[in-house]
This record gives sequence, C-alpha cells and structure tokens, in this order.
Amino acid sequence: MSSAVPPPGQRPRCNLWLESRYRKLRRGLPQTIFYCPVCKGDRRRRVDCPECKGFGKLTKESVQELIGRRLLPAMAAKEGKFHGAGREDIDVLMLGRGRPFIYEVVGARNPDVDLEALRREIEQRAEGQIELQPFVRVDRKRVVYWKETHFDKVYRADVALGGPVDPQRLAAAAAFDGAILQRTPQRVAHRRADLDRPRSLRVLELQPAGEGLLQLRVMCQHGTYVKEWISGDETRTTPSLASLLGVPSKCQTLDVEEILTDDVPGPRLKPAAATTPDAEP
Ligand SMILES: [Zn+2]
Repeated sequence: MSSAVPPPGQRPRCNLWLESRYRKLRRGLPQTIFYCPVCKGDRRRRVDCPECKGFGKLTKESVQELIGRRLLPAMAAKEGKFHGAGREDIDVLMLGRGRPFIYEVVGARNPDVDLEALRREIEQRAEGQIELQPFVRVDRKRVVYWKETHFDKVYRADVALGGPVDPQRLAAAAAFDGAILQRTPQRVAHRRADLDRPRSLRVLELQPAGEGLLQLRVMCQHGTYVKEWISGDETRTTPSLASLLGVPSKCQTLDVEEILTDDVPGPRLKPAAATTPDAEP
C-alpha cells in the first residue's frame, strides 16, 4: 500500500479504487481530461502551443476532472486515474444507470473520508453536468473486469433524413434484427486497425418525429459504431439505416440509453462473431 516511510506526524500515503457509475447530462463533456493533441498538455510545450494557446486542454472540464477536483483535495491525494468501462463520444449523453468506472486515487494521505458526503458535493459542484452512483471501495482487479468485459448497449438517436421515405422501407428498417458488417469508420481509422467487423444490431423503435426526422432506438453489440450504422459511412457499414431506408440518413443527436451490464434485466443480442477487444463508438 504505502511506499516510503512518512515524516513524523504525517500519515502514510496509500492508493485506493472507488467504483461508481456516471450519468453524463451535458453534451461536449469528455469522459477524461481532453489533452491538446499538439502539445499533449506538457507544461513547457504548451506555453507557445498554437492549438490550445497555452491551456494544454481542448475542454475546460471532463467527468474525470469534475470528480477529481473535489476528491483529490479531500483525500490529500497526489493524483487520480479514471478507468471507464468504455467511453462515449464527447457529444453523446450517458443516461440510464450510467457508465461504470473506477476512480483510482494515488497517494492518498486521508483516505477515510465520508464517501457519500463527497459524492453529494461532487454532484452539487458539477451543476447538473454529471450524476454519480454511490462510491464503493473495490479491489484493483475490478479495473480489469470493467476493461475486459463487454456489454450490449441501447442507444437513442434523432436521425435527419435526406428525402421522403417509402412507408414499406421504413417498416422493414424498423423490424431490422440481424448482423451488420462494419469497416472501421473513417473518423477513427487513424487510431484503429482497418478491419471489417461483424456486429449484431436490433432496431427497438423507429418512427417519424417531425418533418424529415426519425426517432431511433437500437440495441447493439459492443463495439458497434452507431453514427456510422445510421449514415452507412459511404458504404463502409452494410446494411446501414440509410441503405435500408433508401435515403441519406444522418445522426443528429445520440444518447447511450443503457449499458446492459449483468445487473440490468431484459434480453440481450446474440453476438455476430467473436468480439475483438476494441473501442466503442
Ligand atoms: Zn496545445
């Protein structure tokens, strides 16, 4: 646990792992610190950085920082590490029971704080951007569990259409339940292997929601890129919602409605194939 012998009168430092789930209720909030891609937030390099103008980051806040800025001082800790069970895009809300994560507290001198009071304080100071489930002290092995276990997810989306849809094609798309083949999306191709991945997907709901708009709810296997399933990503995903409908389709807003962890009741998908340890949309 503790490393060096502390000076007289000072408590030894220890590390601890706190498990919780976060709901993210504001778009534009990243899960972890969004370091500038040019200077990587480095203290010296960021000074003259043209990308972030010395800030070192591309957003003011993140879920990680909203938690850490209260938790780390309260525990007199050196550093916090955020281990999420996957992550959603910055513009995607995380609803339902929230996304499991472990906040690793490094070098805490004061670990015996009232975790429930701390959680309430974090929520209050976050001003509605995030909500947290009560913290539970866990073993470090839980990090591995959440990193390596994959879950189906339910998403909801507003879809903008490029033209009128034939009612029969809309009905067929609304009943889609099967396998799709998804080549690595262009937007992540620079950091992921360029592969074709089979994924299972079930449309739960698809209905008109105003002029040129559809409301979509969909259950997908881990690792499905939902925005690209909607648009087709220039035929890199087949079939796509756009190909099923026969009109250009674009995801306007996307929310994770639920991550189907083992404690969530209800049906699951049959995996389309052995899943690769890969990222989420
Ligand atoms: Zn920078």
